[in-house]
Amino acid sequence: MKPYLFCPACGNQLEKGFIDGRDRMFCPSCTWVHYVNPLPVAVAYTLNKDGKLLLVRRGHEPALNEWALPGGFLEAGEEPHEGCLRELYEETSLCGEIDSLIGVYHREVEMYGSLLVIAYRVTVADDTIAINHELFEAGFYTQGLRPEVRIPLHRKIISDAALSGIIP
Ligand SMILES: [Zn+2]
Repeated sequence: MKPYLFCPACGNQLEKGFIDGRDRMFCPSCTWVHYVNPLPVAVAYTLNKDGKLLLVRRGHEPALNEWALPGGFLEAGEEPHEGCLRELYEETSLCGEIDSLIGVYHREVEMYGSLLVIAYRVTVADDTIAINHELFEAGFYTQGLRPEVRIPLHRKIISDAALSGIIP
């Protein structure tokens, strides 16, 4: 991630300073400070009524072409579980219901920096999928017949979900 060079509030050039325990960019003119916080992301570990797991093949960076769990960035003013179900719906047209929270995770990605990832177990009654432009394909898979998920965090979520409840 490229650092900001100019103040978004007044347009003055930013300077580097040691503020609240870290090096941060700040504006010497209006005292605006660039606090870099993680971006919240919701991920849906989604099961159909046969206990098969939804996996999607990503059609965009990061992790282009990798098999993954669906998910995306939360919008301002949105509850995390609402964002999770919205992202699931946008990517696959599936209407899910939240079953439980699997876990909350942190990771660094080059494209976005620091991410706070909230993973839910989601169930769907109707598993008819219609993917959007963000995906190449998507399907529900039984454990032995799944495409390989190589994204470390998604592997971790899948294993944590299996430990915390029903193994699909
Ligand atoms: Zn300023």
